[in-house]
Amino acid sequence: MKIAVVGTGYVGLVTGTCFAEVGIEVTCIDIDQQKINNLNRGILPIYEPGLEEIVSRNVSAGRLHFSTNLAESIQEADVAFIAVGTPPGDDGSADLKYVLAVARAIGENLNDYCVVVTKSTVPVGTAAKVRREIESALDLRGADIEFDVASNPEFLKEGAAIDDFLKPDRIVIGVASERAQEVMNKLYKPFLLNGHPIIFMDIPSAEMTKYAANSMLATKISFMNDIANLCEIMGADVNMVRKGIGSDARIGTKFIYPGIGYGGSCFPKDVKALIKTASENGYEMQVLKAVESVNEAQKSVLFNKVTEHFGGELQGKKFAIWGLSFKPKTDDMREAPSLVIIDKLLEQGAIVTGYDPVAMPEAKHTLGNRITYAKDPFEALIDADALLVVTEWPEFRSPNFGVISRLMKDKVVFDGRNIYEPQEMQDAGFVYYCIGIRTEY
Ligand code: NAD
Repeated sequence: MKIAVVGTGYVGLVTGTCFAEVGIEVTCIDIDQQKINNLNRGILPIYEPGLEEIVSRNVSAGRLHFSTNLAESIQEADVAFIAVGTPPGDDGSADLKYVLAVARAIGENLNDYCVVVTKSTVPVGTAAKVRREIESALDLRGADIEFDVASNPEFLKEGAAIDDFLKPDRIVIGVASERAQEVMNKLYKPFLLNGHPIIFMDIPSAEMTKYAANSMLATKISFMNDIANLCEIMGADVNMVRKGIGSDARIGTKFIYPGIGYGGSCFPKDVKALIKTASENGYEMQVLKAVESVNEAQKSVLFNKVTEHFGGELQGKKFAIWGLSFKPKTDDMREAPSLVIIDKLLEQGAIVTGYDPVAMPEAKHTLGNRITYAKDPFEALIDADALLVVTEWPEFRSPNFGVISRLMKDKVVFDGRNIYEPQEMQDAGFVYYCIGIRTEY
């Protein structure tokens, strides 16, 4: 089997590489010539643990190719994945211009039966639009070529993407023909061997499943942040409450950690898009509207604690920020809570030094010289009035607090991820703030 994956970002590159890993011949296509040139030189556009090694192995084996030539790759492909971005438009709906541009290009070049699969996260009804776009391009050419569309939403998590793809919790595929189902079943067979389930369904349900999944996860986060804020007011400890509720199998232990709000390229935009889809169709997503507004407020929680501690006087104060990416094990800065916190600190005249184990280049790209960048976590602390832990990278979990004490001007820590023990921090002489636990001074 030969496949083409159009869009070589986080999803497209992981998808293409993992299919190559099971022996399929893959061409990853992107419109960005520089990205393709770099990939052909072995330089990856993103950081994803383990990815570089698998890319290089499959390129060497001759199964994985990178190209800007969509025409050629489509003509050889049995399956074409569309994995381009679907950023939020001005009104919050998913902007489909990249998806539909690819669909058109596929229609302009198709020469034999192919299953065209949307892997991008797209609203219900998009596969039908993709079909129409391809049909109209075929009509213009006077070509009569059979094809199917399918929807195969992607559930990988940045930072664990390879494992998620190779050992998926489930594979969801929306199809409208037996032929497409057979092709997709054959394609995914290598991933099913250890009991990983494939769930075939109609196309609208597959499209909706992705939004429902991300919205449910965002809901868990906002719910727990709401509980954490109330715990703090009432003198309860959210860590205890989390353990107390997580042991109920109906609730479960995962994804109930309070923090400083969700970010990244998916949850914010997908929640917005689902609210928009509903309102366009005369329905109001009341829960998700609350999820969004709790999240917006939560991004300011750490900054509010900083302001309160310093009596509103942040001018000239020096803050160290540990963690800039939106979550650990990725360099993705899209909608990262760090950006909101840094903006607020800078607005108040504070001086910020940031450190992140892998997102520094991306952070420099996004923030430029508005902050300074430390070469290691300790350098960021020199003469700092306070440390803000923003992303829970493993290397921040058990640092040398003796060294930290000596480097900082004031021993004040604002922990946005609850990675330290309040009592231990206080015993070590730190003024310590975290989320959902009252620490009184
Ligand atoms: P990305 O921005 O990292 O990559 C998109 C790529 O598409 C870019 O390299 C861009 O140059 C390329 N592109 C744009 N137009 C093109 C065209 N006409 N032809 C060829 N290439 C083109 O995006 P991403 O994070 O990989 O997300 C892609 C989709 O997958 C989105 O819909 C997203 O919501 C969804 N998704 C993302 C994740 C994630 O964790 N990042 C997880 C699941 C689903």
